[in-house]
Amino acid sequence: MKKAFWMLMLLASAMTCMVLSACDGKGTKADIVDEACSDTECAHEWKAKVDTLPKLNIRDEHLMQGARSINAIVIHCSASAEETSMPVDSVRKDHKGRGFRDIGYHFYITRDGQIHNGRWVAEQGAHVFGHNKHTIGICYEGGLRKASKIKGAPKLEVPKSMKHSKYAIYKEEIDGKPVMVTVIKGVPYLPADTRTFAQKKAMKELVQRLMMIYPKAKIRGHRDYSPDANGDGRITQDEWIKACPSFDAKGLLDDK
Ligand SMILES: [Zn+2]
Repeated sequence: MKKAFWMLMLLASAMTCMVLSACDGKGTKADIVDEACSDTECAHEWKAKVDTLPKLNIRDEHLMQGARSINAIVIHCSASAEETSMPVDSVRKDHKGRGFRDIGYHFYITRDGQIHNGRWVAEQGAHVFGHNKHTIGICYEGGLRKASKIKGAPKLEVPKSMKHSKYAIYKEEIDGKPVMVTVIKGVPYLPADTRTFAQKKAMKELVQRLMMIYPKAKIRGHRDYSPDANGDGRITQDEWIKACPSFDAKGLLDDK
């Protein structure tokens, strides 16, 4: 099925290429991809450039399918406890259980720094409501830390009704700001950047690589897509619907 899809994409992009006459081999990689040029000549040139990029454990052809126009790379977390494993198969199963055709993200990064393929980049994802058409979704395993392990966090009193919940979420005011508290087996967790060194490294490399293909794309966190309730043009913490991905994704490439 995927092969057939890829062949169709190739055919479609070769036709676009003929119309736009963009296959003079002089365009930058971004131009080539923007023109969706995938005929043999352009694909070779593009592939040669991709080969000079840092090697990642993802399928090259995954990136070759750059036919969709992308305006943002959206970072997510799996909203699972940092000490608990949430393998890619569980996420896929969960998403399918919610009626998705497949896992909603394009990439999933586990705590060991492995980058797992989700949907093909050319396919629209299902990860940020209302903004899936022109975005790529990357999710990392984790994003929640036990409140008792967070310095300065107040002692949280889990509502009685949630004390025995396997997984529940409620809002709590901490230092005058609303914070999402996730209750897992009766224990309160708070949003936290739980990325391991390997996860940070893998995420940065993956985003850098995608940015070479989609240089105009912005880097955003899921929470940055919350509605701007007071209309001041900024999405602030009091407006977040979710805390995902539990860190400021805009500064991701500045991460050391
Ligand atoms: Zn998210």
